[in-house]
Amino acid sequence: TPTIGVLALQGDVAEHLRALQALDAHTVKVLSPDQLDALDGLVLPGGESTTMSKLAVRYGLMEPLRKRIAAGMPAYGTCAGMIMLADRILGGTADQQTVGGIDMTVRRNAFGRQTESFEAAVDIDGLGGDPFDAVFIRAPWVESVGSGVEVLGAVPGPDEAGRIVAVRQGGLLATSFHPELTGDTRIHRLFVDIVKGHS
Ligand code: GLN
Repeated sequence: TPTIGVLALQGDVAEHLRALQALDAHTVKVLSPDQLDALDGLVLPGGESTTMSKLAVRYGLMEPLRKRIAAGMPAYGTCAGMIMLADRILGGTADQQTVGGIDMTVRRNAFGRQTESFEAAVDIDGLGGDPFDAVFIRAPWVESVGSGVEVLGAVPGPDEAGRIVAVRQGGLLATSFHPELTGDTRIHRLFVDIVKGHS
């Protein structure tokens, strides 16, 4: 059984814990750096990335998280968590930091005020079965990716051009949307499988 942490500074932590527990992962609420060593993988939840960034610095987690992820710990970020895993962000606040790890540029609140939240059926590469019923809440999109990043899914943007909303780079996975808010556990299962394959 893999031990998977959920970064519990802020955001929809309980929903991720529930989704992971349903897949028989051993879960840990992560609030301090000394908890990182025991983890096989980490989920960064949705919420507010500026607040998450501030709290990660205040709790002394930012640098240890960077080290652990650079050393190969698998991680999955949803929405604000996707922003946290981005090497570069657009529309961040002046002092906003990210953990980084995925060679991508992520635009915050990208879908605009008109579309604060929406649902879309998204085809996710490698998931199999039906399109994923994806819930977007003040969601970011991925503006560009480096050559090592696999694009797993996209939706039409406001100008109808496709916008990337799901990516993978090795053991790092990120989605603009919130699978933890729906009953569909396929993406959490994919992450648990990535963690198992890694440890
Ligand atoms: N808009 C939020 C941010 O920039 C993310 C929203 C979410 O996680 N649902 O952090």
